[in-house]
Amino acid sequence: MIDEKGILFILSGPSGVGKGTVRKALFEQSTNLRYSISMTTREPREGEVDGIDYFFKSRAEFETLIEKRQLIEHAEYVGNYYGTPKQYVEDTLNEGKDVFLEIEVQGALKVRENFPEGVFVFLIPPSLEELKDRIVNRGTETEDKVKNRLLAAKEEIEMMDAYDYVVVNDRVDHAVGKIQSIVASEHCKRERVSQQYKKALEADQHDA
Ligand code: 5GP
Repeated sequence: MIDEKGILFILSGPSGVGKGTVRKALFEQSTNLRYSISMTTREPREGEVDGIDYFFKSRAEFETLIEKRQLIEHAEYVGNYYGTPKQYVEDTLNEGKDVFLEIEVQGALKVRENFPEGVFVFLIPPSLEELKDRIVNRGTETEDKVKNRLLAAKEEIEMMDAYDYVVVNDRVDHAVGKIQSIVASEHCKRERVSQQYKKALEADQHDA
């Protein structure tokens, strides 16, 4: 048995891109990923269950978690706190299991500071992809129109730079398929695999 840490995957992207929908569809398929359930101070929506969708906390409880440094990151989003529990993520990775986070962009940037070895996936809306195609292919749209939309998309495009992969959410099943491919590819990475072989070899030499 090779002692190896799991991989931390972070799915993020602009607000309204459909991160939650893609994440739910991904976990409806069979997967070895462990979803890290976030903490939040927002009210549960109909059908949401504490400990499944989120750990629902009061503001005071959440602020205690921040003070006690029990969160890897936290962010305020539309008037509510959201945060990733540290213990669960660290323990699960140490058990050799992959952890999956689905969080907004400010939080993802903070995770990058603490887990630079994480795999960061940026989900983009099809409109951004279309915009790129139109510009690249010099479509029929007037330059002014493209310029305006490009300006609006600029922030989102710049955010991409902090990520390792970009997935277009044109269709949920396509996006899920791409994320599964990313997970599979990361497990085939030479750096990761050769390290495992070297460790196994060392262990074998010790035994011999
Ligand atoms: P919602 O309230 O719709 O469930 O989530 C609002 C936003 O918060 C979504 O973009 C979701 O990805 C993000 N989010 C969920 N959990 C976390 C978390 O632990 N940390 C951060 N930074 N964002 C989160």
